[in-house]
Amino acid sequence: MLNLDGSRANAAADEVLFFEAMAADSAHFAVLYERVLLAARHMGIGPERMPDFVERHPGGGIVLLGQDDLPQQPLVESVERLAAKIRARQLAASDAQTTRIAEQTIRLGQHRFAREVLTNYWHQCAFCEFAPRSLPRKRLLIASHIKPWAACSDPERLDASNGIAACPMHDAAFDAGLITVNGGLRVHRARRLQRSREIDPGVEHSFGPALRSTLRVPGHAAPAAPYLQWHQQHVYADDV
Ligand SMILES: [Zn+2]
Repeated sequence: MLNLDGSRANAAADEVLFFEAMAADSAHFAVLYERVLLAARHMGIGPERMPDFVERHPGGGIVLLGQDDLPQQPLVESVERLAAKIRARQLAASDAQTTRIAEQTIRLGQHRFAREVLTNYWHQCAFCEFAPRSLPRKRLLIASHIKPWAACSDPERLDASNGIAACPMHDAAFDAGLITVNGGLRVHRARRLQRSREIDPGVEHSFGPALRSTLRVPGHAAPAAPYLQWHQQHVYADDV
């Protein structure tokens, strides 16, 4: 159970096969997950030892967060790399099973990252405080990687301090390099965006006073400086 997200390196062969079977059948996974978690809580095993990393629908089933943010080709390459590592450990699974295990491991990792980031930001855009709590799971709030997923090492992809919760408008502007955040969490607008504000009321509406001057981080995991520096150097485009 502790390895259902595939995060433990030394899983036994049977555990890998079990995980693959569960991954292929999300209904059974959900039922088992809930039972094991409930039993653990009854035994006094709290969230610090066994975190509840899966968001479950009230009617059953599991919804993995952040899956649309996984870039297709880098995802395929990462799955192949991880599958090769699993095969190298000579665990008793077919090639197809191993590929499914690798993909599900990466998808569960992305889910954990998104959930941690959204929780850390209290489900609120860090740039404008937009908080669509009455419309959950509609992609109105995105757990964005500061250093993009495709450019990250495996640990960086899972690091909540590499995440910012943002509404689609500010997420897109951040990913496009129109805004960035410095080490003191001040928000900067690129010159191109500043010029657009002057001539375009729609841009002014979303990137004028509505854009906070400092990032709002209500939780404990503030963005780490190396990720912000990476964004400033490789994504932010102030010279166009
Ligand atoms: Zn926003």
